[in-house]
Amino acid sequence: MKVNKQKRHRKTLTFYTACHGFRKPFKVLCDGTFVHHLLANRIIPADKALSNILSANVILYTTRCVLAELKRLGASYSEALNAANKLMVARCEHDKCVRADICITEVVGEKNSEHFFIASQDGDLRKKLQEVPGVPLIYGLRNALFLESPSAFQREYVKTSEEGRLHMSKKEYQIFRDRAMNRLAGEEANDSITGVMENKDSGDQAINVQAVRSITSRNKTDIKDKPQFKRKRAKGPNPLSCKKKKSHENQNIGSMKEMKGDDTVRRSRKRTRSRKRQMPADIGN
Ligand SMILES: [Zn+2]
Repeated sequence: MKVNKQKRHRKTLTFYTACHGFRKPFKVLCDGTFVHHLLANRIIPADKALSNILSANVILYTTRCVLAELKRLGASYSEALNAANKLMVARCEHDKCVRADICITEVVGEKNSEHFFIASQDGDLRKKLQEVPGVPLIYGLRNALFLESPSAFQREYVKTSEEGRLHMSKKEYQIFRDRAMNRLAGEEANDSITGVMENKDSGDQAINVQAVRSITSRNKTDIKDKPQFKRKRAKGPNPLSCKKKKSHENQNIGSMKEMKGDDTVRRSRKRTRSRKRQMPADIGN
């Protein structure tokens, strides 16, 4: 296998495993045309060839409708029928067998919830399945097997569904609003200011998130839409660096002020002490 092809396959596999939850061992659903192609080009053993391009163990599947179609095709496909009979049978809902391509399309359904890789030589079927999200397609070209890259539709589908998950839906917004309002209502009893704001807003039917946020932030509740980082700051002077100085000065001031009246002593002491404390912190910053 060429390096480029290998790289492309790996990228494709990553897409389906990451975006659609495909897990090893991979399940490959083969139709009659694919089995016939494998035999005609001597790509045997088939499971080894497939596990080679998917870089993982594989389990090969077919359906009853595919087997019935091979049977209908007669002697020229008897070898393919024999080989297909050895594969696992994926369950389909058809009591009366239908055309293989219809059967496979229905087994895949809307989202390929069984996580099948579909292997087929039927170009029309593959084209149809490209319009279904999460269906990896395999085909053979002479004696080489290929895994198709995800179609433009499949890529777009993943992109838009991701986009959808990024934003708040209308329902989510309502839940958020109700919760915020409930929390406010709970605090109303404790805080009279809250009550005033609440009443002001309850008249207004169109309360938006911004309003709720501003109210909650004023009331110091814990609704935060952004991570908040606290800057580390020295809260006070380094006790080791200034303990001695502080006690020394305070004593001096204390002895000086004691001569004056009691009230003035307390006030002025307080002021000077706080100033002295802030000084080392400012230097620290
Ligand atoms: Zn069927």
